[in-house]
Amino acid sequence: MELLKQLEKYAALIAKVGINVQPGDTVALRVAADQVELTRCLVAACYDLGAAEVDIAYNDDLVTRLNLEHEEFDRLKDFPPHRKAQFQYWLDKNAKMISVISSDPDNLNGIDHKRISTYQEAGNVAMNAVRQATQASKNSWIVVAAASPAWAKLVFPNDDADTATQKLWEEIFKTTRVDQEDPIKAWEIHAKNLQERADLLNKTQYKELHYTASGTDLTIGLPENHVWLGGYNMSSDGRPFMPNMPTEEVFTAANSANINGYVISTKPLSHAGVTILDIKLTFKDGKVVEGTASQGNDVLQTILKTDEGAKSLGEVALVPDPSPISQSGLVFYNTLFDENASNHLALGSAYAFSIEGGTQMSEDELAKAGLNRSKTHVDFMIGSSQMNIDGITKDGQAEPVFRNGDWA
Ligand code: ZN
Ligand code: ZN
Repeated sequence: MELLKQLEKYAALIAKVGINVQPGDTVALRVAADQVELTRCLVAACYDLGAAEVDIAYNDDLVTRLNLEHEEFDRLKDFPPHRKAQFQYWLDKNAKMISVISSDPDNLNGIDHKRISTYQEAGNVAMNAVRQATQASKNSWIVVAAASPAWAKLVFPNDDADTATQKLWEEIFKTTRVDQEDPIKAWEIHAKNLQERADLLNKTQYKELHYTASGTDLTIGLPENHVWLGGYNMSSDGRPFMPNMPTEEVFTAANSANINGYVISTKPLSHAGVTILDIKLTFKDGKVVEGTASQGNDVLQTILKTDEGAKSLGEVALVPDPSPISQSGLVFYNTLFDENASNHLALGSAYAFSIEGGTQMSEDELAKAGLNRSKTHVDFMIGSSQMNIDGITKDGQAEPVFRNGDWA
């Protein structure tokens, strides 16, 4: 099928199942400037469902790189006020948010790390209110991907840029079920399966999960009344939405006071335009006491130093190794895909909806309940076909949850 037709199907799926656009909605769209066809399809799809306004914030890899190379250092520290005003506008209008990821994962390779972290810190602070609203699901939101030549070349290094880009689009359409006759129907079935896994874990309410694999022996406490989620999420105004496409995960929050042991990453992590390999973290009483990486270590150290919460875990996610993304055998160098190929954890903040009543709690109340608070949230992948996970019940019994990388 020609690309434009696929993009139209993709855009319709994102608008309908993704953020579930309703008449009168403001939609905020964050997208790369070179994704013009997808952008136009998305804007049209949102208006088809009755959106009142679609407000776009464009980004561009090359411009970002040029800014980070040449912009005066003090300017990197100051986030432009008119862009802050745009974030505030989205909050004021209860904007439903579509974020399209297409960046070259290595876009910022070789740039002075102090400049990157300064720029990122300014962005994190400016985005903080939007991030908090998102993490509490005040409004529907979704993160999706688009193929760019630079990213595609990393995933398919032996192909020329055009072929690689086409292949990456095919993978995106396959994993988001856009290649199926009726993607919306396919997502209903998929979401139901994920929901059933989550329901089972919610009923069980394990006190801890114990992970073992080569290089990993980690016990993660789960907060009282934690909520596992998979598939649809619910916004605080009662609207179901799909926060990620693709998604294969069932996830909850860690109890940030009770994490002990060590864990290694099993897939490359692309963060801040740099690829981080072989992360090793040792935890004691909920905090990282030692963290190293064989590549991108300075980026890892910067993440860990973001704030106190960056040294603990916010998210615990279960993804079976036989998931379609894992079975593709590809490394996407993109968290949206790689996290859905593998069991993963996130350093930094927990989602407020990961505990009963959490979206109504203050930041302090969330922290007291064990939900980690931080300005950052960085997923890293730890799953493999060797991984076993036991659920530890409140009376200390161990029950198999994962065996050899799949649901027990
Ligand atoms: Zn996740
Ligand atoms: Zn995450």
